[in-house]
Amino acid sequence: MVIGGGLVGAASAWHLARAGNHVWLAEQASPGHGASGQNAGSLHFQIERRFLEREGGLGYEGEQTARLSRIAVEDWSSLETTMDIDLNIHMNGGLMVAHSAAEVELLEAKAAREQAMGLSVETIDAAEVQRRAPYLSPDILAANFMAAEGHADARIIAPTFTQAARSAGARIFTGTRITALRKHGGHFSATMESRGPAQAGGSSRPAKTETRRITAAKVLICSGIWSRQLAAMAGLHLPLFPAPLTMNVTQRRDPFLPYLIQHVGRRLSMKQASAGNVLIGGGWPSRMWRNEHEFDFTRPPALVAESLAGNLKAAVETMPGIVDFDLLRSWTGITAVTQDQLPVAGEFPAMPGLFCAAGGSAFTLGPTFARLVSRQILEQDRAEADALLSVASPARFESLNGFMGQ
Ligand SMILES: Cc1cc2nc3c(=O)[nH]c(=O)nc-3n(C[C@H](O)[C@H](O)[C@H](O)COP(=O)(O)OP(=O)(O)OC[C@H]3O[C@@H](n4cnc5c(N)ncnc54)[C@H](O)[C@@H]3O)c2cc1C
Repeated sequence: MVIGGGLVGAASAWHLARAGNHVWLAEQASPGHGASGQNAGSLHFQIERRFLEREGGLGYEGEQTARLSRIAVEDWSSLETTMDIDLNIHMNGGLMVAHSAAEVELLEAKAAREQAMGLSVETIDAAEVQRRAPYLSPDILAANFMAAEGHADARIIAPTFTQAARSAGARIFTGTRITALRKHGGHFSATMESRGPAQAGGSSRPAKTETRRITAAKVLICSGIWSRQLAAMAGLHLPLFPAPLTMNVTQRRDPFLPYLIQHVGRRLSMKQASAGNVLIGGGWPSRMWRNEHEFDFTRPPALVAESLAGNLKAAVETMPGIVDFDLLRSWTGITAVTQDQLPVAGEFPAMPGLFCAAGGSAFTLGPTFARLVSRQILEQDRAEADALLSVASPARFESLNGFMGQ
C-alpha cells in the first residue's frame, strides 16, 4: 500500500504495479496536491547551495547526494522514453553563478568534488558566461555549468505518474485519507476514509464519508510533510519538519532562456517554462499558519514581503533584463526537511515492512527514490538499493525509535 499521491507515491505505485503486484494508493486530495504540484520544477544535480552553507557541506552530505544525483540524471533522461509520454522535461544545462571572489573559490571546490563523484561539471569564466548567456549580469565572475541540468513541469508529473500507475493495474483512491495505520503480527491494517461525491443540485448537506479497513503486507509512507503523522499512527518517530517556501512567475516571453540558473551564494533559481513564463524561486521562506498547538498544513503559508523582495532582487542582480517582466503570480508551498537536510528513504529497522520516502529535493530525486524504494519493497537487487539509499535510511532515527514500544 502506498500512502500519498505526490510524485514519489505515484511513481512508486507505477513501479510496483508494472512489476505485477497488487498496489493500492491512497491520496487524501488529488494527485500532486502537496509539494509535488507547487514546486519550482528544477532538476538540479549540482551540489545544492544549502549543503554548501553547512560546515563540511562539501564533504559527506554533498558527496552522498551527488551520488544520488548521478543516478537521477539517468532516471530523468530516460523517463519520457520509458513511459512513452511527453512530460515537458528540458535538460539543456544549468549554470550556478558567482558574484564574488569567495563564491568563485566555492564553485571551484564544488566542481572538483563533483567531478570526483562522476558528475560532469565545469567552471567557466565571466567571458564564457556572457558568451553562453548574454542576458546574465556582466558582474557575474564565473559559473559552474552542468549539461544535464534542467527543469520539468511540476503540475503534470504526479498526475501523469498516477495515470501510468492506474494503467499498470494499481488501484488509485483519491479524496481518500489514511486515518489509522497499525502493524498486527506480519501485516499492516489501515483505515481509509473516502469523501463521497458532492451532493447534486447545490445541496448544503455534507458529502458522505465512506470508511473501510484494508490490510497490506508492506506499506510505503510517501506523504510529504504529513509523513511524520503517518509514522506516528504506526507508533514511530519520523522527524520531518515543514519548510514553507515562496515561488514567483512572470508573464510569458519568447524563448530566450534554455538553462536552469542558480546562484552559489544567494537563494535563487530561474528557468523559462515551455509556455514562456519565467519561474523565480530559490528557497525563500514564507510563514506557516498555526493552530492552537501545531502548524497547519491545510492552509498555504502566508507570503512574506521580505522574501518576495529578496528573491526578486537576487533575480534582477543576476539577470538585469528581468526587471521589465511583469510579475504574474506568487505562491507558497510546504516541503519537508530533516534536521540534517538529507532525505529519508528506506525501511524502518524498528518495523520491518514499513518503508518511507520523504524530504529533500524530491522533485529532482523523486523518480530515483521511487525506483530504489520499490526495489527494496520487492526485494529486487535489494543490497544495491540499500547501499545507494544508505545516506537517506530511516535507520538514523533508530536511536529515537528504540524508545518506542510496539
Ligand atoms: C515552493 C517549493 C519549491 C520546490 N522546488 C523544488 C525544486 O525546484 N526541485 C526539487 O527537487 N524539489 C523542490 N521542492 C521540493 C519538492 O517539491 C518535494 O520534495 C517533492 O515534491 C515531494 O514529493 P512527495 O511525493 O514526497 O510529497 P508531496 O508532493 O507533498 O505528496 C504527499 C502527498 O501525500 C498526501 N497525503 C498526506 N497525508 C495523507 C493521508 N493521511 N492519507 C492519504 N494521503 C495523504 C498529500 O495530499 C500529498 O499529495 C520544492 C518544494 C516547494 C514547496
